[in-house]
Amino acid sequence: MRLETIGDDVYACLQEEPGIGFSNSGLLGAGGGVVIDTFWDLPHTRELLEHYARVLPEPARRVVNTHHNGDHCWGNQLLSGAEIIGHRDCAKRFMDEKPEMMQMIKSADLSGQPALQKFARALAPWDFEGIEPTPPTTLFDDRMSLELDGMTVELIHVGPAHTESDVIVHLPDQRVVFAGDIVFRLCTPVGWIGTFAGWIDALDRILALDPEVVVPGHGPLCGREGPRDMKAYLQHVLEESRHFFERGLSALDAARRIDLGPYEKWHEPERLVFSVERAYREFRGEPADAPIDSAALFRDVGLLQEERWPVRDRV
Ligand SMILES: [Zn+2]
Repeated sequence: MRLETIGDDVYACLQEEPGIGFSNSGLLGAGGGVVIDTFWDLPHTRELLEHYARVLPEPARRVVNTHHNGDHCWGNQLLSGAEIIGHRDCAKRFMDEKPEMMQMIKSADLSGQPALQKFARALAPWDFEGIEPTPPTTLFDDRMSLELDGMTVELIHVGPAHTESDVIVHLPDQRVVFAGDIVFRLCTPVGWIGTFAGWIDALDRILALDPEVVVPGHGPLCGREGPRDMKAYLQHVLEESRHFFERGLSALDAARRIDLGPYEKWHEPERLVFSVERAYREFRGEPADAPIDSAALFRDVGLLQEERWPVRDRV
């Protein structure tokens, strides 16, 4: 991971390795410090906090979680005493993902299930021992403002998009947006509860803020091209999925055939399965918060990778 200075008292810590769980975080060094998202496990979050201690010697007084996925908040407990801020639904969903379940998958005997084995192998860099999920307790609905020694910070709820609790962090004076998982940069997005329309609307809202720097939830720093490319990806996959849905193909068969064009170069193209499934749920008129069988989806991701992009060995 690598610390990058983005502006006065504004930093990002980037984990640019491809693969599941490698997310980004931010630090606002004013007003006692605000950490924007922690990492997926305690060892990676400890390293993150060591980077932050180089520029802000005191532990940050606040944490903002952009949404409830573990890869953005399972290190929260290491900022003991900090005020943890998030959307109301972030707190509500916080316990849906379970570290002990991830640890179990890592050590399970999955022989005979090669597609799931790939998923388990992709978890190798992560250690889910000792995580005590620590949810936000300062909650908001639409937006919340912070004033940090003259630095204005706007927390804006833009979900449901990637999840229902998606929040972006906007620094209007610095023209910076921490986008959380509304923006995956040069890697294939995965979505949970939300709709294509909601996600595209969230991207339009980022673009309307006219940022110079966008810190994506995953992948390298970008400018406005980040949200623009994400929007184009979602529109492309939605259109292609509709084409195959109308011809009666299954979601997996659609994912086998969709021509990704320029997006095939993004990391983990096989995660396309998630978006096609989401599109199909929408076409069938299912509610955005209908339960998702994530194990089945990851199995199909593994299958698709074997079939279409067999040289790599990552989820
Ligand atoms: Zn994420």
